[in-house]
Amino acid sequence: MSYVDEVFDLVVAKNPAQPEFHQAVKEVLESLRVVIEANEEQYRKDALLERLVTPERQLLFRVPWVDDKGQVQVNNGFRVQFNSAIGPYKGGLRLHPSVNLGIIKFLGFEQIFKNSLTGLPIGGGKGGSDFDPKGKSDREVMAFCQSFITELHKYIGADTDVPAGDIGTGGREIGYMYGQYKRLTGLYEGVLTGKGLTYGGSLARTEATGYGLLYLTEEMLKCNGKDIAGKTVAISGSGNVAIYAAQKAQQLGAKVVTVSDSTGWVYDPEGIDVELLKEVKEVKRARLTEYAAARKSAEYHEKKNGEHGVWTVKCDVALPCATQNELDLEDAKALVANGCFAVAEGANMPTTMEATEYLQKNGVLFCPGKAANAGGVATSALEMSQNSERLSWTFEEVDSKLKGIMVNIFHNLDDAAKKYGMAGNYVAGANIAGFLKVAEAMTAQGIV
Ligand code: NDP
Repeated sequence: MSYVDEVFDLVVAKNPAQPEFHQAVKEVLESLRVVIEANEEQYRKDALLERLVTPERQLLFRVPWVDDKGQVQVNNGFRVQFNSAIGPYKGGLRLHPSVNLGIIKFLGFEQIFKNSLTGLPIGGGKGGSDFDPKGKSDREVMAFCQSFITELHKYIGADTDVPAGDIGTGGREIGYMYGQYKRLTGLYEGVLTGKGLTYGGSLARTEATGYGLLYLTEEMLKCNGKDIAGKTVAISGSGNVAIYAAQKAQQLGAKVVTVSDSTGWVYDPEGIDVELLKEVKEVKRARLTEYAAARKSAEYHEKKNGEHGVWTVKCDVALPCATQNELDLEDAKALVANGCFAVAEGANMPTTMEATEYLQKNGVLFCPGKAANAGGVATSALEMSQNSERLSWTFEEVDSKLKGIMVNIFHNLDDAAKKYGMAGNYVAGANIAGFLKVAEAMTAQGIV
């Protein structure tokens, strides 16, 4: 049996009931096969893959807090410190009822390669809780965040592990967590990113993942003889990534015709009104029904049986920006049938493996999330630099660095794919480019 297959079997055996983690490992190892086989003897002797798929440390903890009725609630807290070969652990905190250890491990594993691709000195980690901020009062969210950090603060720090936002963790949650960290440690340091602008946050961090997604998509299209201007774009999600992806797509001359949330989706043939969407989602924290009610041209569709209607709409470019496995084989077939020629992932692993293969086989340009959504973590690393320097850069400065990083990421993965005989396979290119740097650092640092 090949080394890659042996390690994959080991992951499944040692990590039962963690399908998302298995899926992420399989996708990465499959596309690394050529590289691993070229160095198999050394990697096997060093157990490099076994170490790569095993987190350096996994923290699981109790998060008790008191709700507005005086009732004590208990949630599960997680932080997986996956790999620090090239820098301090870095990755977001997801707050969503679906969160479990397998999901955090899939996200942490992906984060290793994503962070490596940015070219910045950051290792991979991820965390979160099954707490749902939706429908909670500000006081309840604060009580949860304070309790979460009361435990987690022992294990994080500006030079060890720097968490950030993710699904359910936005500026409000980061603010409460930062305040509690400061109170407990007495340190005013860059321990969290995604902070508010008045206390160490970076301009353009809010926009970074969505904008970065579009900078990379624009470059991918350009290198394939196409232009984003004038194209029709379907986006899923209506959170941080989706909103700023829609904004930048429109700034680049494209028309965004869909957004979605966990209960429904909107088709707006005249183009999504981003300011209205921001008002509904960022200010009122309301459902998309409010968007549709305020906009004549918009059609609202209730989501039935977990289906994702946005992918049935005719588009040139699809940008999944909600959550994992939201674009399956049926969706991929609908996209291809409707003439979609490019898919770039704003979310983490939103496309199933079967869907990815189908898109690639049908000539659709496909860029995986670990490259396409790396603008968020890259700008988080820029926030860390500004915190260390005790300086704040202008929006334009950060935005232009972000654009440079995204263009560079695309060329790195494009070159890696070509070098290993898989031109145009950006999944393989991203995994190979991300892996080689981490593998070299791990080898240089000995058996740790
Ligand atoms: P938000 O919480 O701001 O938004 C998430 C969006 O996805 C919401 O519209 C939400 O709908 C929808 N959604 C979440 N879970 C589900 C689900 N199970 N089924 C259907 N819809 C769902 O998160 P972000 O925009 O920050 O994150 C979106 C994706 O991008 C995630 O995969 C995240 O890991 C990834 N990402 C985010 C980065 C960032 O900087 N924020 C960086 C890199 C990747 P509803 O409001 O109804 O819950």
